[in-house]
Amino acid sequence: MRFIIFLLVSIFSGCYTMYGVVLQEEKNNQISSQEHVNYKISEANQEVPESIIFIIADGTGIGQYSVSYYSNGDFAPARFDHVGLVATHPNDGECETTCKRVTDSAASGTALSSGQKTYNGAIGVDREKQPIKTMLEWAEEKGMLTGLVATSTVTHATPASFAAHVDYRKKEAEIAQQFANSDVDLILGGGKKFWPDSLINIYENNGGEFITDLKTSVENGSKVLGLFADGALPKVIDGRNPTTTQMAKYALNYLDKNSQGFFIMIEESQVDWGGHANSAEYIQGEMKSLNDLINFALDYQEKNPNVLVVLTADHECGGVAVHDGENGDLDIRFTSDYHSANFVPIWATGPGAEVFDAFMDNTEIGRILTEYIKK
Ligand SMILES: [Zn+2]
Repeated sequence: MRFIIFLLVSIFSGCYTMYGVVLQEEKNNQISSQEHVNYKISEANQEVPESIIFIIADGTGIGQYSVSYYSNGDFAPARFDHVGLVATHPNDGECETTCKRVTDSAASGTALSSGQKTYNGAIGVDREKQPIKTMLEWAEEKGMLTGLVATSTVTHATPASFAAHVDYRKKEAEIAQQFANSDVDLILGGGKKFWPDSLINIYENNGGEFITDLKTSVENGSKVLGLFADGALPKVIDGRNPTTTQMAKYALNYLDKNSQGFFIMIEESQVDWGGHANSAEYIQGEMKSLNDLINFALDYQEKNPNVLVVLTADHECGGVAVHDGENGDLDIRFTSDYHSANFVPIWATGPGAEVFDAFMDNTEIGRILTEYIKK
């Protein structure tokens, strides 16, 4: 009897979670943090690849891959030979007081492109806003052909972090100007609105050709800028055209004629936006596109074993988790509409891929790929 009274009191006081009684008071889950360690890995005695395909799936963590695994059938990431985990925090704020663990795509794009941590919003610059040389710029110096592909505007944070240097990511017009005067051999994606005709003229005077259709033939030896939308390319569920894989195919066909090898960064940009929108359907479509891209890249790698393929994310977005829904469906839940500091996976196949069988800081990816390019 006493137990029953205790049980009833407990249930009505709202702090008993048994049998579906929900907590009425929201629990404060803030905990104190510790200074984090940036874990390093060693690339000593590694085989060095001739060319690198670096795929960045923006905002894609374990939750997004789980969504794809249970909803899209074929799971292409399983084809990779090596897999590891990556911490993505920026170098933003002071650790005692304002330290941030959640990165944006600019800070993490810069960590991935250059091997250096910086503040959120920074494009290819350090904490003092000084330019940092990126792996793409090292590849140019080594005589490799270089490419950038994105399904956002090509001047968006991730592609921008590889070939531009500005103190703030929203300066996309300035990033376009830097691209027009850069030595990047091939740029494909969206964002015509940041390229006025006067800037296209500058680009063409620098030996580039501007296309709006992948079927347009270009002169041998000229740089190529392909912009297929005013802003970002359409979502996959709205009928993206060209698809990410069509752009990747065009790019590899263009790049692999060079005896010095090539470096390309291909971004599946919009998985992140599916997380911001808390839309499982949006994420599912973008993950399907990423799956096609992985299959294409790994098929290419099988025929070209000197190529290293690396796939990772700049950060997670949405705190995505997969739950059982009704009638065997999936119930996808989100903890926020912004990025999280959750670790993201890294997958790799090809010469030098073994080093990524590890837990690592995101700067290690930038540092090691740059080492491979320099060698
Ligand atoms: Zn985002």
